Amino acid sequence: MSEMMQAVAVTGNREAKLIRMERPEPKPNEIQIRIHACTLCTWEQRVFIREKNTPLPLVGGHEIAGEISALGADIDEHIYPIGARVTGRVQKACNSCYYCRRGEPTQCVELNTFRLNGPEVYGMGGLAEYICLDRAAVWLYRSDVPFEQMTLTEPLACVLNSIRRGEPRIGDDAVVIGGGVMGQLHLICLEKMGVRTILSEPDAARRAFAKARGCQITLDPSHEDVVDRVLRLTDGRGAETVFNTTAISKVAEDAIRMTGKLGRCVIYSSQHPDHPVPVSPNWLHSSEAVLTGAVNPSIVAFEQAVNLIGKGILSLGDLVSAVYPKEQATEAFEEALKPNTYRVVIRL
Ligand SMILES: [Zn+2]
Ligand SMILES: [Zn+2]
Repeated sequence: MSEMMQAVAVTGNREAKLIRMERPEPKPNEIQIRIHACTLCTWEQRVFIREKNTPLPLVGGHEIAGEISALGADIDEHIYPIGARVTGRVQKACNSCYYCRRGEPTQCVELNTFRLNGPEVYGMGGLAEYICLDRAAVWLYRSDVPFEQMTLTEPLACVLNSIRRGEPRIGDDAVVIGGGVMGQLHLICLEKMGVRTILSEPDAARRAFAKARGCQITLDPSHEDVVDRVLRLTDGRGAETVFNTTAISKVAEDAIRMTGKLGRCVIYSSQHPDHPVPVSPNWLHSSEAVLTGAVNPSIVAFEQAVNLIGKGILSLGDLVSAVYPKEQATEAFEEALKPNTYRVVIRL
C-alpha cells in the first residue's frame, strides 16, 4: 500500500478542497520535494472560476518552493542533501522534441501535458505536499532564502524570457503595459538593466507601487492617450521595447502603435478574448520592427531567476500579498482573484 499525501484541488466552480492522493515516489533520476509553498498563478485562477474548462478535480500549481525529502537511486546525496531548499521547473522539457533540441524548451511539445494523469486527479501537481521532478528540473537555494520568495522563481523566469525577447539595451526606453505582478517584475528587472521604464496602468495603487520600486514614468490610460504620451516622451520615435502584460487585445494594438522603428513589441500575456488587431504590413516592412510573444520560462531564464533571488540581487518579498494555510484554499483563490493582490501563496 503506497503512502498518501494531501493536495489542494479545484473541485468545482469557485471551490477548492484538500484531497488525499497517492504520494509520488522518485524514479532513479528524480528528486522528491516536500513542497512548503506554492503560489496561485493566473492559470490556476482561471481554472478556479471555470474560465478554463479543464477536467476536475485538478491539482494545479507550478510556482513551488520546498525541501528535498527523498532521492532516486541515481542521485548523489552530497550534491542534493535531504532537507536542502529547492525549487523546480514543473513545466516539462522532454529534451527530445524538435523545439527542445533547438534549445527552446518554452515550446516543448510535452510542456502542457498534465503531469498527474487522470482520471482520478489532473494538473501540474505543485499544490500538493510532494512532487517528484527530474534532477535537471530542480534548483538548489541557500537555507536562508524564504520559501515565499523562492516561489517567485518561476514567474520571474517567465519575465526574464520575455525580456530576452524584448532585447532592451542600456539607456533605452521600455514601456510596460499593465502593473500586475508580471508587469511589476518586468519593471524591476528593466530598472536593474539601466533602462528608462514607463508603466501604463489605470490602477493608482499599482502605479504607486511601481514608483516606489523605481519606475521612472507612470501613465494612466484612463485619463490620457498613452500612445501619444509615449511618442512625445521619445521625440516621436516610439519606444525601443514594449511589453504588453495585459490580456486585452485593444491594448495589444496600442502596444504595437507605441513601438518605434527597429523596436520590439512583446505580447507577454495570453489574450482573453483573443480579438485580432490590425497590423500594417507596410509599417513592419519600413520600420523593421519586431512583433513577438513570450510564453513559459526557458531553462536559462530559470537559472538566472534563481541567481537573482538567491544572491539577493532582487528582493521580491513585497510581491507576496498574502499567505494562506492549505486548509483555506478557497479563501486563498478568492484573494488571488482580487485586482489589488500580487501573488497569493498557499502553505502546504
Ligand atoms: Zn506561473
Ligand atoms: Zn520537448
